[in-house]
Amino acid sequence: MKNDSYRDSEPAASPGELCTWRESNCALAQLLARHRHALKGAIATAETIGRSIDELTPLMVALCRRTCRFCPEPCCITNTVWFDFQDLLFFHLTGAPIPDCQAVSEPKEACPFLGHHGCSQPPRNRPWMCIQYLCPAQRTILERQQRTVWIGLMDKIEFIKRQRRLMETDITRCIKSTHRIKAKR
Ligand code: SF4
Ligand code: SF4
Repeated sequence: MKNDSYRDSEPAASPGELCTWRESNCALAQLLARHRHALKGAIATAETIGRSIDELTPLMVALCRRTCRFCPEPCCITNTVWFDFQDLLFFHLTGAPIPDCQAVSEPKEACPFLGHHGCSQPPRNRPWMCIQYLCPAQRTILERQQRTVWIGLMDKIEFIKRQRRLMETDITRCIKSTHRIKAKR
């Protein structure tokens, strides 16, 4: 999902889908802005996630350099991916740019973010399912390395997964409790 070089393509979403994507992100931004004072914990968690993704990136980039250039079945074309709700929460809480469209494409069509030099999204701005993806070729390379490298990578991925769940739970709890307080008034 992190190819070095393939081809450019236009976003796959239709104008209607783009409209829904933008409206949904606008609504989410407004909701989070209304509760921002209560979301300090979730924002700190989102920042931890960002730093952890940064720590993960050099190893993932090194793996891609060794495997992606001549890949016969690039996963950015063969796999269907998408930004999930936790991805969007992470972008909104860290102030990252919101992607122009969903990442989904039709089966066997390239992801809309795939460019001449691989993914056009910065590492932090990719779907989590892309960030943590290890294809069989990459797993084989890792298995040949010191076990500590493999264990360290798996630990980091699990840590980020837990932080993403924590961020979402925290936001849900904050918003629900604010609504309960308002309802009692
Ligand atoms: S399947 Fe593996 S080698 Fe091929 S493009 Fe994806 S990450 Fe790279
Ligand atoms: S967002 Fe698209 S181009 Fe980028 S890594 Fe994921 S599948 Fe590949």
